[in-house]
Amino acid sequence: MAQRATADLILPSDLLPRDGRFGCGPSKVRPQALAALAATGSSYLGTSHRQPPVRDMVARLRRGLTTLLQAPQGYEVLLGNGGASLFWDAATLSLIERRSQHLVFGEFSQKFWAAAQAAPHLEPPERIETEPGRHPLPRPTTAVDVFALTQNETSTGVVMPIRRPDADGLVVVDATSAAGAVPIDLAEVDVYYFSLQKGFAANGGLYVAICSPRAIERIETIHRGGRWIPGSLSLQLALENARLEQTVNTPALATLFLAVHQLEWMLDEGGLDFAARRSAANAAIVYGWAEAAAYATPFVSDPAMRSPVVATVDLDPSVPARTVSQVLRRNGIVDTDAYRKLGRNQLRLGLFPAVQPDDCRLLVAAIDHVVARIT
Ligand SMILES: *Cc1c(COP(=O)(O)O)cnc(C)c1O
Repeated sequence: MAQRATADLILPSDLLPRDGRFGCGPSKVRPQALAALAATGSSYLGTSHRQPPVRDMVARLRRGLTTLLQAPQGYEVLLGNGGASLFWDAATLSLIERRSQHLVFGEFSQKFWAAAQAAPHLEPPERIETEPGRHPLPRPTTAVDVFALTQNETSTGVVMPIRRPDADGLVVVDATSAAGAVPIDLAEVDVYYFSLQKGFAANGGLYVAICSPRAIERIETIHRGGRWIPGSLSLQLALENARLEQTVNTPALATLFLAVHQLEWMLDEGGLDFAARRSAANAAIVYGWAEAAAYATPFVSDPAMRSPVVATVDLDPSVPARTVSQVLRRNGIVDTDAYRKLGRNQLRLGLFPAVQPDDCRLLVAAIDHVVARIT
């Protein structure tokens, strides 16, 4: 009965968001950015990354990020191919001297720990763990030279405050889903790294790493120390190229363009305050609905740990979340599925600044509509 009802469940048009993309990465690209990219015609895509059209785009990205995130004096913006996942490998070679400490509270934070654990030139990393749905806190110690933190665990929808532990190690923060959407004080951070397909509403492919003078010194010291570092993973080479508004090898030009468009839109609208307020407004709508609906509960029980960019919502066992996501998808509301490895009866909703609060209101109304008809 429920099966038959779902196959042809059509949502009324007044419940359809104007834009149905609620994924956690790749996330919604603003149509204005795509139109602007198309409008460049033959002047940008398909031209040399060693010439002004592309180098100027790199310069705008580096300058714009410095402004948006209010980077303190002396911080530098590095970038390169490979996204945040590649950056973990680069960090094991160019940032960790001997030993790192990792806060593990989901898939992404676990992966950086695993990269450090597997590196033969490093001592086994410290691992401080909590069950999914919460976050641990760093333990100040002189036994590590890098503290690996994750501002927003995208797999579970947990956000954590970023404060420098009372110790000398570099504070290296995975901000892939937080950057440009969650407030940050970069004085508390030595390396703030992220990909561009989440808060910056671009495409995958590139990583950005905003580095403090201490982090730059570390990169240079390890480089001079003679450790073998493949060129594609060398942050020293990335640094030298970034200073020339370039990358070690050909960057993803569309990603650069879309990220700069999003970044300059945020700056025009009021900067990080504006962007963070947009995500917070989206989150208030979604968590408010999840707390009120009889069949839904926010997965993250501590409100302070609830992510403003990735909302994870558990559904009652009588409401199969996969079916809900499938029906939504057939109606053009996409990527509401839970993170697969978490294995919960859950919806996971991307609420990045590009997503409009009006669309979030329609999204939760659409979910209510679907649930009322499949149960
Ligand atoms: C998406 C994500 C990554 C991986 O980004 P890629 O660009 O796919 O390498 C890493 N960390 C976090 C927190 C993420 O959300």
